[in-house]
Amino acid sequence: MNREPVSRELFDEVMVPNYAPGSVIPVKGEGSHVWDQGGKEYIDLAGGIAVTCLGHNHPGLVGALMEQAEKIWHLSNVMTNEPALRLAKTLCDLTFAERVFFANSGGEANEAAFKLARRYAWEHFGAEKNEIISFKSSFHGRTLFTVSVGGQPKYLEGFEPAPGGIHHADFNDLESVRKLISKDKTCAVVVEPIQGEGGVMPGDPEFLKGLRQLCDENDALLVFDEVQSGVGRTGHLYAYQMYGVTPDILSTAKGLGGGFPVAAMLTTEKVAKSLGIGTHGSTYGGNALACAVAQRVIDTVSQPDILKGVGARSERLRKGMMDIGERYGIFSEVRGSGLLLGCVLTEEWKGKAKEFLNAGLNEGVMVLIAGPNVVRLAPSLIIPEPDIDEALARFEAGVKTVCGK
Ligand SMILES: *Cc1c(COP(=O)(O)O)cnc(C)c1O
Repeated sequence: MNREPVSRELFDEVMVPNYAPGSVIPVKGEGSHVWDQGGKEYIDLAGGIAVTCLGHNHPGLVGALMEQAEKIWHLSNVMTNEPALRLAKTLCDLTFAERVFFANSGGEANEAAFKLARRYAWEHFGAEKNEIISFKSSFHGRTLFTVSVGGQPKYLEGFEPAPGGIHHADFNDLESVRKLISKDKTCAVVVEPIQGEGGVMPGDPEFLKGLRQLCDENDALLVFDEVQSGVGRTGHLYAYQMYGVTPDILSTAKGLGGGFPVAAMLTTEKVAKSLGIGTHGSTYGGNALACAVAQRVIDTVSQPDILKGVGARSERLRKGMMDIGERYGIFSEVRGSGLLLGCVLTEEWKGKAKEFLNAGLNEGVMVLIAGPNVVRLAPSLIIPEPDIDEALARFEAGVKTVCGK
């Protein structure tokens, strides 16, 4: 067994250079706290990019994992398994869904969603109805289909030819969708109700309602990518429930496993029929270990007191960041919903989000960015209030060093 000590330098020797990880290597987590190799402690407002929704080392999740680990891990889809069936039933009970497809990542859940949308239109209306409308600045994953549907051209650079039939409208601009949509050609409109990677940009309620109506008028399916906004992030189990706009297909991942890789595509019985036997699949999808953990996540997060607690924590964190923004003149706005917040840098500090992230790290607080102009926060949904206060104090100390005040 290789138990040589490892350091950040090794990354550059053995890893494909597509990431630029920070200089420290965390080795242990507990709740909203993380410790690195040197024993330095951090408060985690990043949550592994909106993933560890119940913090690190949550006793319930550890228990669910251990319990299932001693029973059975994996079967493939040649057999079904109890945890997958239970989780699918729970997701159907708690959402609009009547059918569930399991995958392992957000990108894969979206890949399934987009393939299903095409297949559904092909079956019901013919091969011509294959166009997908999505939005500029959106993010849907890194497979070739999902980066093509995503609205950030830089992620597609050098990987063309891309799948065709994809059009990008302007987010929160219904008129731009109206210009692209048609009954003959459009099979689906794909949207993040709150754009995450694109800068934590909430959809306007009227915009999302308008999309629903346009889809209905044009026999197109409405697909909500809730990979980031789902699993309690907004204080609702899924953001569509907050908006009161129900999609035909919804993708969920990130928080779903609380740190264990698992994803799902939710849909109605009618739409699901278009993925008949043999049309799509995944070896690991519905893995028993993953589903057992996700079950505990959903059972926990869907409790009313947990969802309600998100609102109070959100207000505390939002107010704290706004106060810091005012004292140092760094934020023009703190936007987002629940515990998915984006602090937008003022003109003066534009492009410097990474500097604030690094300064925070130095002071013992982990934050995220969403592009060069937004500091993004996605902490555990159950982060204790004293941890929020301490994290804000540490972040302010970091801001001080960046601003030289
Ligand atoms: C993170 C993310 C994805 C991709 O998820 P992966 O698990 O990295 O494949 C897709 N859509 C949205 C909205 C995301 O935030």
